[in-house]
Amino acid sequence: MDLFFNTAFDLYQLITHNSFARVVFALLTGAMIGSFINVVVYRLPQMLKNYAVIDMHLMHPTELTESRARALLADVGLGGRSITPCCDNRIKARHNIPIISYLFLRGRCAYCSTLISSRYLINELVMALLCVLLVMLGLNNLALFFMTSITALLLIVANIDIRYRLLPPHLTMPIGFTAILMVHYDLVLITMSQGIISAIALYIFLTVAKTKGQILLGQGDVELIVAVTIAIGAQMSLSVLALATLSSWLVAKIRRVEGKKERAFGQYISVFTFGA
Ligand SMILES: [Zn+2]
Repeated sequence: MDLFFNTAFDLYQLITHNSFARVVFALLTGAMIGSFINVVVYRLPQMLKNYAVIDMHLMHPTELTESRARALLADVGLGGRSITPCCDNRIKARHNIPIISYLFLRGRCAYCSTLISSRYLINELVMALLCVLLVMLGLNNLALFFMTSITALLLIVANIDIRYRLLPPHLTMPIGFTAILMVHYDLVLITMSQGIISAIALYIFLTVAKTKGQILLGQGDVELIVAVTIAIGAQMSLSVLALATLSSWLVAKIRRVEGKKERAFGQYISVFTFGA
């Protein structure tokens, strides 16, 4: 046990005093968080679908009978070992090392060689690089902790939004709380009253504009932008909204699909502007 504490202490000393060690540590931690993000992105929508099925059954027990509801339920929780989606095999620890396993397996399932989506690798890489960026900004430990949390949450939001067009309060609420804590600990340039008033004002403004049909935002989008407003203030969040609208319009033009959802990336840009 002594050895453990000594090693941990030495490691901490190394990380605090050696900037190279700090970057390596950020890279590894980021990759691991990215790996966890992949798990959440994969499982959370299934869990939400389960809740919806249960609600449906409880509200309309005759239309959706218990046996049919049970058949629709996916077997998921946030705990437990991961199973390959392609062939239902347990993912071994050595196949679960962030970034490295993906490259080692050349992006294929270890059991059935099905191609694994590159977004697993992308999320791990993006989170690793963002963690390095945050460390290089020279934030203190508390700021680093909250910035990493909010970055991870936004990356989850972006993933789930793009894949499922879903922006559940299970994600926007924690972002809001993180924003409140960041204001509380003076990690941003905004006071609590400024943040809260901006958020409420923006919420009212967006809701009115939405009911009048003047903007194309989902309820989740509104909640998300209001949540980040607490930490970045109304001015910044309006520019984020403008940027996000512009970029989603551009992407829609390029891809010729009905635009709206590339927005989650806009938030991203914003968080880094105020982080810097
Ligand atoms: Zn497989």
